Amino acid sequence: MTRDQIRQRLEFYQDLGFKTVYRRSVIEPAFAANSQPPITAPALPTLEPTHDSLLNILQDIGDCTRCRLHEGRNKIVFGSGNEQARLVFVGEGPGADEDAQGLPFVGRAGQLLTQMIEGTAGKEGIPIKRPDVYICNIVKCRPPENRTPQPDEMEICGQFVFRQLQAIKPKAICALGSTAAKALLGTKLGVTALRGKWHNWRDIPVMVTFHPSYLLRPYNQNAKKEAWEDLKKVLHYVYD
Ligand code: URA
Repeated sequence: MTRDQIRQRLEFYQDLGFKTVYRRSVIEPAFAANSQPPITAPALPTLEPTHDSLLNILQDIGDCTRCRLHEGRNKIVFGSGNEQARLVFVGEGPGADEDAQGLPFVGRAGQLLTQMIEGTAGKEGIPIKRPDVYICNIVKCRPPENRTPQPDEMEICGQFVFRQLQAIKPKAICALGSTAAKALLGTKLGVTALRGKWHNWRDIPVMVTFHPSYLLRPYNQNAKKEAWEDLKKVLHYVYD
């Protein structure tokens, strides 16, 4: 790798919110020394290795081809924000803007999410900005035509989201929309039935609310009010 490539890679990790990046230096030289071929890694990593970190998870994902979504992607959208966030937002999957930039919620829905987080926090006197939370999606590659991710895609990619949540250990999770709710809570119920109440993902409280893309539709004004109420509840629970 050239110095320029290393610098670009480091900047990419910094955009994702990493403050420390370690170089993996043990495995390859060890194999080189005894000239044994490396053991092929399993298709899916062990669930929740002890002392997991976001960087480990990112490395395990690698240049992922585990499901069909890799075929149309430009960039894997891993997640961004504070590695030690007390609050994690989980969306559905990248759209066109996210796929182009490799960052979650940077398009129109993302701008609304930023306004919702920062506007609500500001009004409630809670001193946080978007970079203080962590944001990721159930699937990390853009589904074609922004279709809903299929169950096998959610299962394969969901394992990495679960590892991200285990590594961050937030005080609460906010599931944005029904795909995130389904993946985290294993429920078939829709957002209207789930929102406004606390649920659990492995002992971490989960608040379900409307997906920002849904709130962008002009006829969903009442849902907007409800989403703001949900967010207030989450922010006060986490930061009071
Ligand atoms: N919608 C999502 O669910 N996630 C994104 O990152 C962007 C739009």
